[in-house]
Amino acid sequence: MEISIASLKKPCICGKTHPLYVRDLWIESGALQRLPELTGSSRTAVLCDENTFAAAGKTVCALLPGCTCVKLPAAGLHANERGVALAKEHLQGSAPELLVAVGSGTIHDLTRFIAHEQKIPFISVPTAASVDGFVSTVAAMTWEGFKKTFPAVSPLYVVADTAVFSKAPQRLTASGVADLLGKYTALTDWKAAHLLTGEFICPHICELEDKALQALQDCIPDLAKGSEQAYETLMYGLLLSGLAMQMAGNSRPASGAEHHLSHLWEMEALNSYVDAYHGQKVGVGLLLVAEVYHRAAAKLRAGANVVPYHGIETALLREKLPKRLLHSILVENEPDPMGQIPDAALLEKAPALADLLDAVPSAASLSSILEQVGGVRTMADIGLDLARKTDSLRLSPYVRNRLTVMRLLKRYDFYEEVIR
Ligand SMILES: [Zn+2]
Ligand SMILES: [Zn+2]
Repeated sequence: MEISIASLKKPCICGKTHPLYVRDLWIESGALQRLPELTGSSRTAVLCDENTFAAAGKTVCALLPGCTCVKLPAAGLHANERGVALAKEHLQGSAPELLVAVGSGTIHDLTRFIAHEQKIPFISVPTAASVDGFVSTVAAMTWEGFKKTFPAVSPLYVVADTAVFSKAPQRLTASGVADLLGKYTALTDWKAAHLLTGEFICPHICELEDKALQALQDCIPDLAKGSEQAYETLMYGLLLSGLAMQMAGNSRPASGAEHHLSHLWEMEALNSYVDAYHGQKVGVGLLLVAEVYHRAAAKLRAGANVVPYHGIETALLREKLPKRLLHSILVENEPDPMGQIPDAALLEKAPALADLLDAVPSAASLSSILEQVGGVRTMADIGLDLARKTDSLRLSPYVRNRLTVMRLLKRYDFYEEVIR
């Protein structure tokens, strides 16, 4: 599967000409060999951790003689203020004109944050098909305990070498599968928001992502067997999802209720630190969301009533959230993304909403896919107490100012039944 940046930049059927910041990308065996030409004579610094140094960083640094090779400790490295400070310490005195991120999510977020701050470009070298954030224009960071997205820069180029990322630890690949499967509910949330509020949606972006999801489903048996082509299909879907965010101008096409659960757990609002990859948390969230959405579809078809709306559940937030998060969450929810939806629309659009929810693959089928690639599936698998499920579902819609079906369901009389 080829991604043609030029064709994505053409005027779109939605009426927009979508912006794209990535100049080009390659998903192929031996792609690393392109780096000397891409970096040219720029003073270059390569950022990796101990693991990704062994996987590709060593080769990259050998291909770029004279570069500054920053090898961060792998243990305890996170996309947070400490990670940024550590990377900057290593870069001190080298005054790079170009950064090369060699790694997965964390290394990329640290690199794009620093590249943005220092106003220099960067090149992405993914060492695992583990997340869709390689081409993100924002850095997903945990800053002083609060999960935040910071303005950052997209890589100029993505150099995804199949010989590298197909050899990544299997739990990373399984995380990438889960992150990509999360687009099922993310796209559903987007379509539902469009249905009820007229929020902008691009049918072309949705179609591209739907195709990438189908291709992923088709290649799961081969992926489990380690086929390089299947790995490329997964990487294609992940990069496409990242490009979809650039095209839409926000993370709408790639992040919905399933990501909100992951963010809530990362913020340690109801739980202690979850030692799991981004995609693992998203996958566990996705299965919970898929289950709720299918139950809700049945209730909507059976004829549901709308309950009076009293706005943001401040009493609930005060009761359940730690004090350190309360203020930021309240600020995040201004204005209330659900504030303007009339009761009549919720009733009238219920059948169409049920159709959208039924189009999400069942939790059982998603779970089976994750099982085939050796992924985690339950809250217990990532060290979360199942007793936190209902509160997680209740509170997670508030972590972002974004209308999701998980949030919309609060407006129907069956809400409490479907989240238990
Ligand atoms: Zn469009
Ligand atoms: Zn994600």
